[in-house]
Amino acid sequence: MVSLTFYGGVDEIGGNKILLEDGERRLFLDFGFPFKRHKQFYEEYLKPRSGAGLLDPLTMGLLPPLEGLYRNDLETPGIWRQCQHRPLHRRLDQIDGVLLSHAHLDHSGHISFLRDDIPVYTTAVTAFIAKAMQDSGKADFDQQVCYFNPTVQECPTGWRQVACLASTTAKQQRQFCLADVHPGALSADAIQFWTWGFWEKTARQKELISCPLAPHSDCSFNLRCFPVDHSIPGACAWGIETSSGWVIYSGDLRLHGKRAELTRRFIDEALGLRPRALVLEGTNVLREANVSEHEVYENGLKAIASTNGLVIADFSPRDVDRLLTFLQIARDTGRKLAMLPKDAFLLKTMRLLEPEIPDIAQEDSFAIYQDTIASRSPSLWLRNICQEYASKIVLAEDVSSAQAQFILCFSFYDLNELPSIGPRPGSLYVYSSSEPHDEEQEIDFRRLHNWLKQFELRGFGLPVESNGEWQVPDGEKGLHASGHASGPDLLKIAREMNPEVLIPVHSEYPSFYVDHLSDSGIRVVLPTVGATIEI
Ligand SMILES: [Zn+2]
Repeated sequence: MVSLTFYGGVDEIGGNKILLEDGERRLFLDFGFPFKRHKQFYEEYLKPRSGAGLLDPLTMGLLPPLEGLYRNDLETPGIWRQCQHRPLHRRLDQIDGVLLSHAHLDHSGHISFLRDDIPVYTTAVTAFIAKAMQDSGKADFDQQVCYFNPTVQECPTGWRQVACLASTTAKQQRQFCLADVHPGALSADAIQFWTWGFWEKTARQKELISCPLAPHSDCSFNLRCFPVDHSIPGACAWGIETSSGWVIYSGDLRLHGKRAELTRRFIDEALGLRPRALVLEGTNVLREANVSEHEVYENGLKAIASTNGLVIADFSPRDVDRLLTFLQIARDTGRKLAMLPKDAFLLKTMRLLEPEIPDIAQEDSFAIYQDTIASRSPSLWLRNICQEYASKIVLAEDVSSAQAQFILCFSFYDLNELPSIGPRPGSLYVYSSSEPHDEEQEIDFRRLHNWLKQFELRGFGLPVESNGEWQVPDGEKGLHASGHASGPDLLKIAREMNPEVLIPVHSEYPSFYVDHLSDSGIRVVLPTVGATIEI
């Protein structure tokens, strides 16, 4: 019997955790961080206790109570006795792997809790972006995707507290299996990046990166990995051959981005497999049309070319297509695109796999903005980047004295640099990202507007609140190409692929598919949390 059980991504955008079972063979389709559910309980200063390991996420329903699935070192005494009576509790010892669709944390984040002998199957670009993000990020204990610090129990004697699970300094790397590149074809620099930060290199490290689609592969399923277009490079959809036929998992995708051709090829190839079931995302089902990346370029160029002062561009730098769009605008307006060191690190990492990514050292229009206040102990990756690209580094004073020469890649979280830069009135803040989705983001948007007022910056493309709705003002639209297909495009994908069964995930309106596919012969089955759908 083949079945799918949905532990996340149900009636929510993100947090996909889908268990596929075929007899004794089992895979997870993504194992994402459930941001929406997390935010129901936690915020910046109220977080799960890292020293409590699995206890907090299991108790708060952020992780499904699947005994045997998680790292042993995160278990506090008696934890499974406490979880045994939870409705979704079950023992799950044998898992053949996780198929990771892309490096956004709502798909990858909770891999950090999984037993480290469970391999992660993904594309080379996704694996490398995930590692670059972890190397240069805050790496909270619940988002350690590529490697983790095993914990040990520690308790000061004479105290009555429960022992804390303290992280050791040793790092343990997860096994990643690259679906699209044979590890033997990776350059020495790429291998070095993957193993960077680990003492125990050589033989074992090479084993930690392997190829599941090679003939000698020991994955128990026949897999197909389809590259697709999304707002982060390396995204893929998956095909899994089961005893009931092919199950297709879309991950996140779109048909209107720069790499739309990839998504089109995926539809054709998946169609050829005559899919039994399609698990399809539905983030933007209610959206009728989408802005293309080229429109973002044209609208951004128009706004920036007519500005004399400083330009701040707010977009996700992991969306490398967007970064390249703003690089082109910088070239066309005679400015320099000043990105943050972590963006430079990501770009340098991607170039290890995709040589067509511009070389930071060779590109005249790139600069790297270094924070004004020195950090007491800069991390090694940061020191390396600042040394390697020393001639590209600009500081607040450099930007301040030549404001019309820069486009600064800042987000909301970098605005505290503005007192050092002192942007002149009339400088421009170009917003090239999505509208606020929840109350917390709305609060941040109000703060962002306050910053703009404080420094007399002009917003462009920035959503404004009116009657409780956040809307981009007329004449400033078209500065963000979403990573997700519109409703009509998603229906087109479903109809063309023509599966027997369609299961919507990653959507707040899954019934959209029921309403719009009733004449198609496709049976739409809506998942519920923890419930199993037989295929
Ligand atoms: Zn995504």
